[in-house]
Amino acid sequence: MSAALHVVMYHYVRDLPNTPWPRLKGMPTGTFRQQLCALQEHYELATLETALAFLQGAYTPGRDLCLLTFDDGLKEHYAEVTPLLVEHGIQGIFFLITSCLQEQRMASVHMNHVLLATLDFAEYRQAFFQRLSTRVSLPEVMLRVDPQAAQRSARWDTPEVAAFKYLINFVLAAEVRDQVIRDLFTDYIASEASFAPGWYISWDEARAMQDAGMVLGGHSHRHQALATLSAAALARDVRTCQQLMRANLRSQACWPFSYPYGKTNSFNPQTITHLRTCGVNCAFSTEVGSNAPGNDLYAIRRIDWKDAPGGRA
Ligand SMILES: [Zn+2]
Repeated sequence: MSAALHVVMYHYVRDLPNTPWPRLKGMPTGTFRQQLCALQEHYELATLETALAFLQGAYTPGRDLCLLTFDDGLKEHYAEVTPLLVEHGIQGIFFLITSCLQEQRMASVHMNHVLLATLDFAEYRQAFFQRLSTRVSLPEVMLRVDPQAAQRSARWDTPEVAAFKYLINFVLAAEVRDQVIRDLFTDYIASEASFAPGWYISWDEARAMQDAGMVLGGHSHRHQALATLSAAALARDVRTCQQLMRANLRSQACWPFSYPYGKTNSFNPQTITHLRTCGVNCAFSTEVGSNAPGNDLYAIRRIDWKDAPGGRA
Protein backbone atom coordinates (compact mmCIF):
# COMPACT_ATOMS: atom_id res chain seq x y z
CA MET A 1 0.00 0.00 0.00
CA SER A 2 1.34 3.44 -0.84
CA ALA A 3 2.10 5.96 1.89
CA ALA A 4 -0.13 8.86 2.93
CA LEU A 5 0.48 12.27 4.50
CA HIS A 6 -1.46 12.92 7.71
CA VAL A 7 -1.53 16.57 8.76
CA VAL A 8 -2.49 17.06 12.40
CA MET A 9 -4.15 20.32 13.43
CA TYR A 10 -3.84 21.99 16.83
CA HIS A 11 -5.28 25.18 18.36
CA TYR A 12 -5.10 25.68 22.14
CA VAL A 13 -2.43 23.53 23.80
CA ARG A 14 -2.30 24.50 27.45
CA ASP A 15 -2.45 23.31 31.00
CA LEU A 16 -6.09 24.39 31.18
CA PRO A 17 -6.90 23.89 34.90
CA ASN A 18 -4.00 26.23 35.76
CA THR A 19 -5.06 29.05 33.44
CA PRO A 20 -7.64 31.81 33.98
CA TRP A 21 -9.95 30.03 31.47
CA PRO A 22 -10.13 26.34 32.45
CA ARG A 23 -13.38 26.01 30.42
CA LEU A 24 -11.69 26.73 27.09
CA LYS A 25 -11.72 23.72 24.77
CA GLY A 26 -8.12 22.71 24.22
CA MET A 27 -5.47 20.05 24.42
CA PRO A 28 -3.70 19.58 27.78
CA THR A 29 0.06 20.08 27.48
CA GLY A 30 0.70 16.64 29.05
CA THR A 31 -1.44 14.97 26.38
CA PHE A 32 0.46 16.89 23.69
CA ARG A 33 3.77 15.65 25.11
CA GLN A 34 2.51 12.04 25.04
CA GLN A 35 1.08 12.43 21.55
CA LEU A 36 4.47 13.49 20.18
CA CYS A 37 5.90 10.13 21.29
CA ALA A 38 2.91 8.22 19.87
CA LEU A 39 3.23 10.02 16.52
CA GLN A 40 6.96 9.29 16.35
CA GLU A 41 6.17 5.59 16.89
CA HIS A 42 3.55 5.49 14.13
CA TYR A 43 4.91 7.82 11.48
CA GLU A 44 7.84 9.52 9.86
CA LEU A 45 7.54 13.11 11.08
CA ALA A 46 7.58 15.38 8.03
CA THR A 47 8.95 18.85 7.49
CA LEU A 48 7.02 21.18 5.20
CA GLU A 49 9.68 20.47 2.60
CA THR A 50 9.34 16.66 2.72
CA ALA A 51 5.53 16.89 2.91
CA LEU A 52 5.35 19.01 -0.26
CA ALA A 53 7.92 16.83 -2.05
CA PHE A 54 5.73 13.82 -1.20
CA LEU A 55 2.56 15.52 -2.53
CA GLN A 56 4.42 16.40 -5.73
CA GLY A 57 5.60 12.82 -6.20
CA ALA A 58 9.26 13.71 -5.61
CA TYR A 59 9.73 11.84 -2.32
CA THR A 60 8.71 8.31 -1.37
CA PRO A 61 8.88 7.71 2.39
CA GLY A 62 9.21 4.24 3.92
CA ARG A 63 6.02 4.73 5.94
CA ASP A 64 3.23 7.27 6.34
CA LEU A 65 4.24 10.87 6.89
CA CYS A 66 2.83 13.12 9.59
CA LEU A 67 3.05 16.93 9.66
CA LEU A 68 2.08 19.05 12.69
CA THR A 69 0.24 22.36 12.18
CA PHE A 70 -0.87 25.00 14.70
CA ASP A 71 -3.48 27.64 13.88
CA ASP A 72 -3.98 31.16 15.24
CA GLY A 73 -0.50 32.16 16.53
CA LEU A 74 -1.38 31.63 20.18
CA LYS A 75 1.15 32.55 22.87
CA GLU A 76 1.57 28.97 24.07
CA HIS A 77 2.72 27.92 20.61
CA TYR A 78 5.86 29.93 21.36
CA ALA A 79 6.09 29.38 25.11
CA GLU A 80 5.19 25.68 25.42
CA VAL A 81 4.79 23.96 22.07
CA THR A 82 7.99 25.08 20.35
CA PRO A 83 10.31 23.93 23.19
CA LEU A 84 8.63 20.48 23.18
CA LEU A 85 8.96 20.17 19.40
CA VAL A 86 12.63 21.16 19.59
CA GLU A 87 13.15 18.53 22.30
CA HIS A 88 11.65 15.88 19.99
CA GLY A 89 13.41 17.14 16.85
CA ILE A 90 10.07 17.86 15.13
CA GLN A 91 9.23 20.81 12.88
CA GLY A 92 5.88 22.54 13.45
CA ILE A 93 4.05 24.81 11.01
CA PHE A 94 2.46 27.82 12.75
CA PHE A 95 -0.19 30.04 11.16
CA LEU A 96 -0.42 33.68 12.26
CA ILE A 97 -3.37 36.09 12.13
CA THR A 98 -1.38 39.17 11.21
CA SER A 99 -3.75 41.86 12.59
CA CYS A 100 -3.35 40.28 16.04
CA LEU A 101 0.42 40.85 16.04
CA GLN A 102 0.52 44.07 14.10
CA GLU A 103 -2.48 45.96 15.50
CA GLN A 104 -3.01 44.25 18.90
CA ARG A 105 -6.42 43.09 17.75
CA MET A 106 -8.28 40.08 19.05
CA ALA A 107 -9.79 37.79 16.42
CA SER A 108 -13.53 37.73 17.05
CA VAL A 109 -13.43 33.92 17.19
CA HIS A 110 -11.09 34.15 20.22
CA MET A 111 -13.07 36.90 21.94
CA ASN A 112 -16.03 34.57 21.53
CA HIS A 113 -14.08 31.67 23.09
CA VAL A 114 -13.00 33.81 26.06
CA LEU A 115 -16.55 35.09 26.60
CA LEU A 116 -17.92 31.53 26.40
CA ALA A 117 -15.28 30.38 28.91
CA THR A 118 -16.01 33.26 31.29
CA LEU A 119 -19.77 33.75 31.24
CA ASP A 120 -22.49 31.23 31.71
CA PHE A 121 -23.56 30.25 28.16
CA ALA A 122 -27.21 31.29 28.59
CA GLU A 123 -26.10 34.65 30.02
CA TYR A 124 -23.71 35.21 27.14
CA ARG A 125 -26.24 34.30 24.47
CA GLN A 126 -28.81 36.60 26.05
CA ALA A 127 -26.37 39.52 26.24
CA PHE A 128 -25.34 38.84 22.64
CA PHE A 129 -28.90 38.70 21.28
CA GLN A 130 -29.81 41.82 23.24
CA ARG A 131 -27.05 43.83 21.55
CA LEU A 132 -27.66 42.11 18.20
CA SER A 133 -31.38 42.95 18.20
CA THR A 134 -30.55 46.66 18.06
CA ARG A 135 -28.78 46.03 14.74
CA VAL A 136 -30.64 43.26 12.82
CA SER A 137 -33.93 41.32 12.79
CA LEU A 138 -33.36 38.29 15.06
CA PRO A 139 -36.02 35.95 13.55
CA GLU A 140 -34.64 36.64 10.09
CA VAL A 141 -31.02 35.77 10.95
CA MET A 142 -31.98 32.67 12.98
CA LEU A 143 -33.73 31.21 9.92
CA ARG A 144 -30.39 31.22 8.17
CA VAL A 145 -28.70 28.89 10.68
CA ASP A 146 -28.45 25.39 9.14
CA PRO A 147 -28.25 22.99 12.14
CA GLN A 148 -26.46 20.25 10.18
CA ALA A 149 -23.79 22.56 8.78
CA ALA A 150 -23.46 24.03 12.28
CA GLN A 151 -22.76 20.63 13.85
CA ARG A 152 -20.29 19.73 11.09
CA SER A 153 -18.24 22.88 11.71
CA ALA A 154 -18.18 22.40 15.51
CA ARG A 155 -18.14 18.65 16.01
CA TRP A 156 -17.25 18.71 19.71
CA ASP A 157 -19.90 21.20 20.82
CA THR A 158 -23.52 20.75 21.90
CA PRO A 159 -26.12 21.62 19.20
CA GLU A 160 -26.95 24.94 20.96
CA VAL A 161 -23.32 26.03 21.16
CA ALA A 162 -22.66 24.80 17.60
CA ALA A 163 -25.67 26.76 16.27
CA PHE A 164 -24.55 29.88 18.12
CA LYS A 165 -20.99 29.58 16.77
CA TYR A 166 -22.36 29.02 13.26
CA LEU A 167 -24.52 32.14 13.54
CA ILE A 168 -21.48 34.11 14.65
CA ASN A 169 -19.03 32.68 12.13
CA PHE A 170 -21.10 32.23 8.99
CA VAL A 171 -24.50 33.95 9.11
CA LEU A 172 -24.00 37.43 10.54
CA ALA A 173 -22.27 40.10 8.50
CA ALA A 174 -18.71 40.30 9.80
CA GLU A 175 -19.01 43.98 10.78
CA VAL A 176 -22.18 43.40 12.81
CA ARG A 177 -20.83 40.31 14.53
CA ASP A 178 -17.43 41.82 15.31
CA GLN A 179 -18.96 44.95 16.76
CA VAL A 180 -21.31 43.01 19.05
CA ILE A 181 -18.53 40.67 20.23
CA ARG A 182 -16.08 43.56 20.63
CA ASP A 183 -18.58 45.48 22.78
CA LEU A 184 -19.21 42.43 24.96
CA PHE A 185 -15.50 41.62 25.24
CA THR A 186 -14.68 45.17 26.29
CA ASP A 187 -17.55 45.21 28.81
CA TYR A 188 -16.92 41.81 30.39
CA ILE A 189 -13.20 41.01 29.85
CA ALA A 190 -10.71 43.73 28.82
CA SER A 191 -9.72 46.10 26.03
CA GLU A 192 -8.38 44.28 22.98
CA ALA A 193 -5.12 46.24 22.95
CA SER A 194 -4.34 45.24 26.54
CA PHE A 195 -5.38 41.61 26.08
CA ALA A 196 -3.96 40.67 22.65
CA PRO A 197 -0.21 40.86 23.50
CA GLY A 198 -0.69 38.18 26.18
CA TRP A 199 -2.83 36.01 23.92
CA TYR A 200 -0.80 35.97 20.69
CA ILE A 201 2.80 35.41 19.62
CA SER A 202 4.76 38.62 18.89
CA TRP A 203 6.89 39.17 15.80
CA ASP A 204 10.05 38.75 17.94
CA GLU A 205 8.76 35.43 19.22
CA ALA A 206 7.81 34.32 15.71
CA ARG A 207 11.36 35.01 14.52
CA ALA A 208 12.74 33.05 17.49
CA MET A 209 10.51 30.14 16.42
CA GLN A 210 11.96 30.32 12.90
CA ASP A 211 15.45 30.24 14.43
CA ALA A 212 14.42 27.08 16.29
CA GLY A 213 13.53 25.39 12.97
CA MET A 214 9.80 26.13 12.87
CA VAL A 215 7.96 27.37 9.75
CA LEU A 216 5.52 30.29 9.88
CA GLY A 217 2.55 30.76 7.60
CA GLY A 218 -0.35 33.16 7.11
CA HIS A 219 -3.81 32.59 8.57
CA SER A 220 -5.19 35.79 6.96
CA HIS A 221 -5.06 39.34 8.35
CA ARG A 222 -8.46 39.49 10.06
CA HIS A 223 -9.47 35.83 10.41
CA GLN A 224 -12.66 36.08 8.38
CA ALA A 225 -14.09 33.28 6.21
CA LEU A 226 -12.36 34.37 2.99
CA ALA A 227 -15.11 33.11 0.65
CA THR A 228 -17.56 35.56 2.26
CA LEU A 229 -15.47 38.67 1.47
CA SER A 230 -15.96 40.98 -1.52
CA ALA A 231 -13.26 40.73 -4.20
CA ALA A 232 -11.66 43.96 -2.96
CA ALA A 233 -11.75 42.94 0.72
CA LEU A 234 -10.34 39.51 -0.12
CA ALA A 235 -7.45 40.99 -2.10
CA ARG A 236 -6.71 43.49 0.68
CA ASP A 237 -6.77 40.87 3.45
CA VAL A 238 -4.54 38.33 1.72
CA ARG A 239 -2.09 40.97 0.46
CA THR A 240 -1.79 42.66 3.87
CA CYS A 241 -1.23 39.31 5.56
CA GLN A 242 1.54 38.23 3.21
CA GLN A 243 3.23 41.64 3.16
CA LEU A 244 3.37 41.73 6.96
CA MET A 245 4.70 38.17 7.13
CA ARG A 246 7.51 38.93 4.72
CA ALA A 247 8.34 42.30 6.28
CA ASN A 248 8.53 40.97 9.85
CA LEU A 249 9.82 37.42 9.49
CA ARG A 250 13.03 35.87 8.20
CA SER A 251 12.89 34.63 4.62
CA GLN A 252 11.55 31.10 4.06
CA ALA A 253 11.87 28.69 1.13
CA CYS A 254 8.13 28.18 1.23
CA TRP A 255 5.19 30.26 2.52
CA PRO A 256 2.24 28.12 3.59
CA PHE A 257 -1.24 29.38 4.48
CA SER A 258 -4.14 28.08 6.53
CA TYR A 259 -7.72 29.11 5.68
CA PRO A 260 -9.65 30.63 8.59
CA TYR A 261 -12.38 28.12 9.55
CA GLY A 262 -11.09 26.03 6.66
CA LYS A 263 -14.07 23.99 5.45
CA THR A 264 -14.61 24.03 1.67
CA ASN A 265 -17.30 26.72 2.08
CA SER A 266 -14.69 29.10 3.57
CA PHE A 267 -12.46 29.36 0.45
CA ASN A 268 -12.88 29.13 -3.32
CA PRO A 269 -10.89 29.35 -6.59
CA GLN A 270 -10.74 33.15 -6.25
CA THR A 271 -9.17 32.80 -2.79
CA ILE A 272 -6.53 30.47 -4.22
CA THR A 273 -5.78 32.83 -7.11
CA HIS A 274 -5.08 35.65 -4.64
CA LEU A 275 -2.88 33.42 -2.49
CA ARG A 276 -0.81 32.38 -5.52
CA THR A 277 -0.45 36.01 -6.62
CA CYS A 278 0.90 36.89 -3.16
CA GLY A 279 3.50 34.12 -3.27
CA VAL A 280 1.78 31.53 -1.09
CA ASN A 281 2.98 28.03 -2.08
CA CYS A 282 0.44 25.77 -0.41
CA ALA A 283 -2.67 26.02 1.79
CA PHE A 284 -4.27 23.87 4.47
CA SER A 285 -8.00 23.33 4.95
CA THR A 286 -9.90 21.80 7.86
CA GLU A 287 -11.55 19.23 5.60
CA VAL A 288 -10.91 15.89 7.27
CA GLY A 289 -8.71 13.27 5.65
CA SER A 290 -5.22 12.23 4.63
CA ASN A 291 -3.31 13.27 1.50
CA ALA A 292 -1.66 11.43 -1.39
CA PRO A 293 0.69 12.40 -4.24
CA GLY A 294 -1.12 14.54 -6.82
CA ASN A 295 -3.43 16.19 -4.24
CA ASP A 296 -4.27 19.87 -4.69
CA LEU A 297 -1.54 21.82 -2.83
CA TYR A 298 -4.12 24.53 -1.99
CA ALA A 299 -6.62 22.18 -0.35
CA ILE A 300 -4.48 20.00 1.91
CA ARG A 301 -6.68 18.01 4.29
CA ARG A 302 -6.02 17.76 8.02
CA ILE A 303 -7.18 15.78 11.02
CA ASP A 304 -7.91 17.05 14.52
CA TRP A 305 -5.35 16.04 17.15
CA LYS A 306 -8.08 14.00 18.87
CA ASP A 307 -8.24 11.73 15.81
CA ALA A 308 -4.48 11.12 15.62
CA PRO A 309 -2.57 8.40 17.55
CA GLY A 310 -2.28 9.33 21.24
CA GLY A 311 -5.12 11.86 20.98
CA ARG A 312 -7.54 10.02 23.22
CA ALA A 313 -5.93 8.95 26.45
ZN1 LIG B 1 -8.12 30.07 13.03
